Amino acid sequence: FLALPILREGNLMGILMLSFSDRQQHWPQTDLKLLQVAADLIGGALVRQCLANELERQASHDGLTGLYNRRKFENLLLHELGRADRYHRPAAVILLDVDHFKAVNDRHGHDVGDEVLCQLSAILHEQIRDSDVAARWGGEEFIILLPETDLDGALHLADSLRQHIADTPFPAIGQVTVSLGVSAYQRDETLDSLIKRADDALYQAKAAGRNRVHLAASGGEGELSAEC
Ligand code: GH3
Ligand code: MG
Ligand code: MG
Repeated sequence: FLALPILREGNLMGILMLSFSDRQQHWPQTDLKLLQVAADLIGGALVRQCLANELERQASHDGLTGLYNRRKFENLLLHELGRADRYHRPAAVILLDVDHFKAVNDRHGHDVGDEVLCQLSAILHEQIRDSDVAARWGGEEFIILLPETDLDGALHLADSLRQHIADTPFPAIGQVTVSLGVSAYQRDETLDSLIKRADDALYQAKAAGRNRVHLAASGGEGELSAEC
């Protein structure tokens, strides 16, 4: 049987293995050359696929934290809201903003601020369920999609996240707190409306003193969010 290296810039990427069913047969020199060309073509295809995967990863993930970026999150949320509508299932989002993050940067420098954002991302990733989706919404704001979750369930997770973060030591700076706004999907509501209600609740949580969770109002003009 024959084993041909699949090489790319001198690195072994794989091996192309071939064997004759007839054990007596030998590989003619011309076939060997042709097969090496085939192995090289396979190597080229593998490199192109790796590049395509990397481009896809960069287009959908945040460069600093490795979480999904806003664009990818919006696609996933849109898909989930369609599913929730079709099957009459609940869904919720949590918007989370770091308290007084500007002061962290001012006191400890931007690199330390970046480390804090990465540590927070790791906490979110660890604490949410496999079916939930966490993303970096922008700056020091994160967003979480909770499929199959009503307002009570989302509140419960938001408050346990808040508590967990407040109790976690951050080596570079000590303690960090976050404020959270929670909204549950209402039938036929747009994605923008769902997020806007979570954002309004987050704003209320900040105004009420930070390190707390607020629930979004159900959507009527002028309603206030409820503190939890
Ligand atoms: P609040 O409690 O009201 O949220 O106060 P805050 O200081 O967190 O809010 P503000 O919007 O004033 O400041 C947000 C800061 O986040 C300012 C900006 O420089 C910082 N920031 C945004 N993105 C990054 C980043 O990627 N890395 C670092 N280190 N800082 C960032
Ligand atoms: Mg912010
Ligand atoms: Mg903030």
